Amino acid sequence: MDEPVLSLREVSKTFGVLKASDGVSLDLRAGEIHALIGPNGAGKSTLIAQIAGSLRPDSGTIRFAGQDVTRLGPSARARRGLGRSFQISQVIAGFTVRQNILLAVQARAGRAYAMLRRAARDNDAMQQVTEYAQRVGLAERLDVEASDIAHGERRRLEIAMALAMRPKVFVLDEPMAGMGAEGVAVMTQLLDPLRHEAPILLVEHDMQAVFALADRISVLVYGRIIASGSVAEIRNDPEVRRAYLGD
Ligand code: ADP
Ligand code: MG
Repeated sequence: MDEPVLSLREVSKTFGVLKASDGVSLDLRAGEIHALIGPNGAGKSTLIAQIAGSLRPDSGTIRFAGQDVTRLGPSARARRGLGRSFQISQVIAGFTVRQNILLAVQARAGRAYAMLRRAARDNDAMQQVTEYAQRVGLAERLDVEASDIAHGERRRLEIAMALAMRPKVFVLDEPMAGMGAEGVAVMTQLLDPLRHEAPILLVEHDMQAVFALADRISVLVYGRIIASGSVAEIRNDPEVRRAYLGD
């Protein structure tokens, strides 16, 4: 089998006496959605910060695209295609949907923020903006300010911006948070085909969505992966049911 796109080995991080990551090993392979679930405080966001490089593990290794990136900072990782999708919640409220997506297209091209105005006259960039907006169902909302769109639309704008940056992996921290059943269904449909563009590490509390999307699920409790397997395996695992699914 090919080497995983992203792999963590025995990653540990302690805050005082608290083991937020306790020997975590995890693989993300091409074409898959790997869901990371676990109760609040389990250490999911801490793990994501270590993948992004904004938090350094005390021990263990993180490999990405065939290289050891454990000692690289966030921007060096982002340049390699890791980490850009972490910034997805950085929608600028005073910008329109169009300007926000354009910013993401420009960020990928490595151009400075100040070039945004010129980019607005760049037909190729504008064409891309339209395509990303269409993919997330925001084509009719391009001229609306981000502060005036609905919560679900904002989450979809974040996905459009993540797509525009063309990362080699998507790492999404609770993309369904705060959404109703309809929003969750729309987001589920949107994320489903993305795994073929880049594999997705999906941290999510909505079990309906996780069971619908995941190729694999890992369960984190008190900083430790207590189980990892297919949807069926995780749903039927007695320890997982006890620790997390509320049996
Ligand atoms: P999750 O995302 O699974 O809800 P977190 O990764 O946010 O969990 O937090 C895991 C544990 O680590 C929690 O007990 C949290 O309070 C603690 N924690 C997270 N970040 C810090 C920090 N910078 N300093 C101290 N404790 C932290
Ligand atoms: Mg969290």
